[in-house]
Amino acid sequence: MTDDPTVLVIGGGATGAGVARDLALRGVDVTLVDRGGLAGGTSGRSHGLLHSGARYAEDDPRGAEECLRENRTLREIAGACVRETGGLFVRLAGDDPEYFEEKIAACEEIGIETERLDGDEARAVVPGLSEDVVEAFRVPDGVIYPSRLVAANAADAERHGADVHPHAPVDGIEVDGEGGGGAVRVRVGGDVDATLEPDHVVNATGAWADRIADMAGVEVGMAPSRGVMVSVEYDGLDPVLNRCRDPDDGDIVVPHEGEAVLGTTSVPVDDPDDYETADWEVERSVEECAAMLPAVADAPEVRRWWGVRPLYAPDEAGANRRGISRGFTVIDHADEGVSGLHTVVGGKLTTYREMAEVTTDRVCERLGVDAACETATERLPGADDPDRLDEFVERYGGANPTDAGVVNAAGD
Ligand SMILES: Cc1cc2nc3c(=O)[nH]c(=O)nc-3n(C[C@H](O)[C@H](O)[C@H](O)COP(=O)(O)OP(=O)(O)OC[C@H]3O[C@@H](n4cnc5c(N)ncnc54)[C@H](O)[C@@H]3O)c2cc1C
Repeated sequence: MTDDPTVLVIGGGATGAGVARDLALRGVDVTLVDRGGLAGGTSGRSHGLLHSGARYAEDDPRGAEECLRENRTLREIAGACVRETGGLFVRLAGDDPEYFEEKIAACEEIGIETERLDGDEARAVVPGLSEDVVEAFRVPDGVIYPSRLVAANAADAERHGADVHPHAPVDGIEVDGEGGGGAVRVRVGGDVDATLEPDHVVNATGAWADRIADMAGVEVGMAPSRGVMVSVEYDGLDPVLNRCRDPDDGDIVVPHEGEAVLGTTSVPVDDPDDYETADWEVERSVEECAAMLPAVADAPEVRRWWGVRPLYAPDEAGANRRGISRGFTVIDHADEGVSGLHTVVGGKLTTYREMAEVTTDRVCERLGVDAACETATERLPGADDPDRLDEFVERYGGANPTDAGVVNAAGD
């Protein structure tokens, strides 16, 4: 049983945990619920790349700037939830040299630090890099451990008075109609087992956002797309490897302490809980990543998993979802008669904090709360202590596929 909070945040991925932390730091009484363990949705099933922004630089400079800003912020506040590995963009012999020049120029324009390397210099940085690599440039990519990041946000929210409930699915929502001002009652099952009447609700359920919206009789418009990651045994890879070409299948290798995570694909799905997982996605991801780092083709597989991108595209026909913006959107459902509900969707793991800040600003404005955001400067609890971070992970449901090989925490 839990008391009615001022704000109920539905969805304990990076975005929802970030909103709960931000609200709690601003003195707002908040409850966070997730249907499973925290980060068990897309956040804990991602590639784990702390983007520098270079991937989006020429195509989506605003998104790239967001990544760069948050990359720098997370290095300051997140400690052992992230790892500073650096990254390389590599061009293989058959890849377009003009695209390489365009990418590096766009990075410089945005302020993403780069350093050019010829093929031999790149091979000196990455032993085992393909002989087909003709040139490369360094970028400030890194690695995120999402289970730790989400758990640390939730722990800080709790430390500032929030209630956090994993294993508490939202089963239904009632909205008061005319005269009721769009007030919202939320039926929460599992460990909460109560109907809550918060002043405001934040729908941070990512790829599942349409379902919560549907319960409240409003619309969002998600176009989720799945992608596979394959983790293989691999020692000695320091930086993230990105193939320098138009984003395509299998163009990123992320180092995860003794493992290399290969991926990914982008295939539209209708239902984020029930979708096909195809062998060709695994084969293509391994094959394309092996074009950069040949030894991964024969490396023993440790685990494989799929994640579903929370892409927002209300007008999207649904063909190639790589083209949908990776920017984020905050929707105020007051326009549809539900003044007590905001939805936040899209974005990336890298930009979760900024997504949370913008959402919290809007909610605070609605509630009349005048307090500044502190999440960009206040370090996360346990940031310097990986064991403590892993205790937080254990408290909220255990490690997830992305960082299962790094985080030392059992599930529940
Ligand atoms: C294949 C792939 C690779 C990616 N790689 C990267 C990367 O390397 N770097 C990067 O920055 N981004 C990456 N992303 C994007 C990133 O993972 C997501 O944008 C981000 O994690 C979304 O976080 P979220 O909190 O919004 O959603 P989620 O993490 O999905 O959180 C939503 C939560 O809502 C919960 N929920 C759903 N329904 C209910 C309900 N009824 N009641 C209660 N709770 C509910 C779910 O259990 C879930 O935990 C990747 C995405 C994919 C799919």
